[in-house]
Amino acid sequence: MIEFKGVSMGYATAEGRVDILEDASFHVTEGETVAIVGPSGSGKTTLLLLLSGLERPEQGQIQLDGQDLADLSTDSLADWRRDHMGIIFQSFHLLPGLSALGNVQVPLEIARAANSGSRSRAMLDAVGLSHRVDHFPRQLSGGEQQRVAIARALVHQPRLILGDEPTGNLDRQSGKRVLDLLFELNEQAGSTLILVTHDDQVAERCQRVLRLQDGQLKED
Ligand code: ADP
Ligand code: MG
Repeated sequence: MIEFKGVSMGYATAEGRVDILEDASFHVTEGETVAIVGPSGSGKTTLLLLLSGLERPEQGQIQLDGQDLADLSTDSLADWRRDHMGIIFQSFHLLPGLSALGNVQVPLEIARAANSGSRSRAMLDAVGLSHRVDHFPRQLSGGEQQRVAIARALVHQPRLILGDEPTGNLDRQSGKRVLDLLFELNEQAGSTLILVTHDDQVAERCQRVLRLQDGQLKED
C-alpha cells in the first residue's frame, strides 16, 4: 500500500540546512499496524506529512497504492485523503469556531455522506466524549481535544490511518480506549495503522516497529 524509496528531505533554516530523512526506504502492506518510534526531532512528523502528501520529498519516491505521489496534483491528493485517509495531527488542528460535533462532521460533510450527525455522535461516544458534543475546542482539555481530533480522523472509516502521537495527551485509560478503537478498525475493517509514538502501550500493540534514526528507518 505504501512504498518509500530512497526518500530524502530536509529544511533550510536561518541556522543552515537541517537534514531529516536521508535515503529512507520502507514499505507497508495494506492492513498492517506499524509503530514509528524515534527521539524528538528525528523527523517523525515530517515522515507523516510526506506520507499524506502535505509535504513533497526533495528526493526519492513515495507511492500509495502503486501511484507515485509526485504524479498527483494537489487536488487529486486532497481527494485521496478525503476518501481514504484519516490523519490525527500532533497539534490537533481543530476548527475553533465549530463545536466538537461540528469538527467531527467536517470530513463527512465534505464527502457529502449521509447521516453525518448521528455518525459523528457515535464516534464521539466511542472516544468517551458524549458529554462534550456541544463544547468548543477552547472549552475542552488537551486530552479531550485530542479525542475530538481522533473521532474526526476515524469517522469516515478511512483505509489508512496516520496518527502523530495519538495518545500523547491522554491518561492511560483514555489512551487504552482510543487504541482499542483504532485496533478494532484494523481488525474489523482492515484499516492500515501507522502510528508515530513514544508510548510503549502503542508500540507493543503494533505488528511492526520502525525506528527512525539518523535519517533512516530500521525495523526492530
Ligand atoms: P519529530 O516529529 O520526530 O519530533 P519533526 O519531523 O517535527 O520531528 O522535525 C524534525 C526536525 O526538522 C526538527 O529538528 C525540526 O526542528 C525540523 N523541522 C521540522 N519542520 C520544519 C520546517 N518546516 N522548517 C524547518 N525545520 C523544520
Ligand atoms: Mg512530531
